[in-house]
Amino acid sequence: MVRDAAAAAPERITLCAGADGEQLSCAQLDARTRALAAAFVERGVQAGDRVAVLGRTGVEWALVDLAALAIGAVVVPVYPTSSDAQIAHILSDSGAVCFAAETEHDAARLTAAGARTVWNFTELATWSEGDEDGELDTRIAAVRADDHAMIVYTSGTTGPAKGCILTHRNMFAAAANTVLQTGDMFGGGERGQAVTVHALPLAHVFGQTILFACLIGGTRTHLLPAIPDLVPVLPRVRPTLLALVPYALEKIRKAARGLLEADAEEEAVRQGIAILRGQTAPGQPAGPVVDLLGGRLTHVISGGASLDTTTAGFFAAFGLHILNCYGMTETATAVTVNEPRTNRLETVGRPIPGTTVAIADDGEVLIKGANVTPGYWGAAADKTPIDRDGWLHTGDIGELDTDGYLRITGRSKEILVTSGGKNVAPTPLEDRLRLHPLVSNCIVLGDGRVFICALLTLDADRWAAWRQAAGASADRDDPRLRHELQIAVDDANTLVSRAESIREYRVVDGDFTVEAGL
Ligand code: ATP
Ligand code: MG
Repeated sequence: MVRDAAAAAPERITLCAGADGEQLSCAQLDARTRALAAAFVERGVQAGDRVAVLGRTGVEWALVDLAALAIGAVVVPVYPTSSDAQIAHILSDSGAVCFAAETEHDAARLTAAGARTVWNFTELATWSEGDEDGELDTRIAAVRADDHAMIVYTSGTTGPAKGCILTHRNMFAAAANTVLQTGDMFGGGERGQAVTVHALPLAHVFGQTILFACLIGGTRTHLLPAIPDLVPVLPRVRPTLLALVPYALEKIRKAARGLLEADAEEEAVRQGIAILRGQTAPGQPAGPVVDLLGGRLTHVISGGASLDTTTAGFFAAFGLHILNCYGMTETATAVTVNEPRTNRLETVGRPIPGTTVAIADDGEVLIKGANVTPGYWGAAADKTPIDRDGWLHTGDIGELDTDGYLRITGRSKEILVTSGGKNVAPTPLEDRLRLHPLVSNCIVLGDGRVFICALLTLDADRWAAWRQAAGASADRDDPRLRHELQIAVDDANTLVSRAESIREYRVVDGDFTVEAGL
């Protein structure tokens, strides 16, 4: 992949460090990858050896990936925010023989956890081995599509983290077919070279797949650590494509809100939702927000978690294609991706080429395809997620519409059962609660009794404004900004008023209005 690009367009800029750091051409990326791969060979890294990487997203990490994969070594990505116990688990479960760490601090943590060979990113950059005896090319030629490329530990939302094996075929299928599904979003075509802000963690497979999609598509890719505030970076990089998780998009939306007149955001969200539902065309984009986004942004890809309609609507109102995609570690992320021209709000899009989605009788989403893992590694090796007919069981609950678009409605392990025996999927309720302008986030839980409980975080600014308008003193640190709100759910999964059980708010069904009981 890197070799082909270096031959076809040696001067084209490919990976860039941060917003204004080092920029590598395809020829330079190829040369750096080969030098690092040769240095790994020189230091005894064998095909099949696990090379664990601990750090934040950046060019150095991308080089370790490419060099390790080139010689058939297996990358094990690790979050720098992992606890010592998690690092120790990954270290022993994966059997990693060597580690690359971003900082001295990360390196020291790995050594303390028992890792013997630890290199830090700065040290890797000083290695300059050649391949005098030609061994590197022999090693590269020996790598097969079904060889292991990565072992990625799942986030462990539904149990202990499992080491998920992904082959070269899995990784390539997920990235290349995402590029195919999204037209020229990743570059090429009439739009010329795309410019991407990639601030997804490379410790997560979504970040890895987007990195490979960028390399395959030919975009100029600015790799940024997941920094708390992306906003100042956007006008400097002027991206055409943003690849982010919903949480980061929500933060950008909130920053943009400050540039609009009061109430303009709500209007924008309404318009954007109508656009995404195909009811109207995009209007004139608002200047200050377009400037904040860098002036030439056209596409936003969101994945890893459910994308709320408020955030999607806001970006759509500015004429942007906001594409929700769905996947998981076990499928190298990409399963379904919305397409720019046929984007459907409230769905996660259609399966990428080479992938088939089916819904089991109990509503579980099942997957087959070239992107599907051959299984787990280490302690979880006997827990295959694939049934006898070859379907991957995702643990997610979903629906396919007649045109093949998938909608995720919950997780099978997350179904809440009330004491009345009612099954309740929390996701649709959470999505609905988040639509309320005062609510910035929420999580719906079972309280073990009749009620389903929603923990809400209210939007501090709006809450203050609202309280002021209501004549109460506006205090942003008011502890009452976090509240437990009890709601009951009827058979249709709609919210039902239970005023007597609510201390400060009353939930009224229908349009879901929150009424203060102050
Ligand atoms: P574990 O499998 O260890 O319990 P996990 O499933 O949370 O952890 P990941 O593989 O990182 O670990 O997450 C994949 C899950 O994220 C999917 O199964 C799905 O539940 C959720 N998800 C991903 N993308 C979306 C999306 N666009 N909309 C809704 N949910 C999504
Ligand atoms: Mg999972």
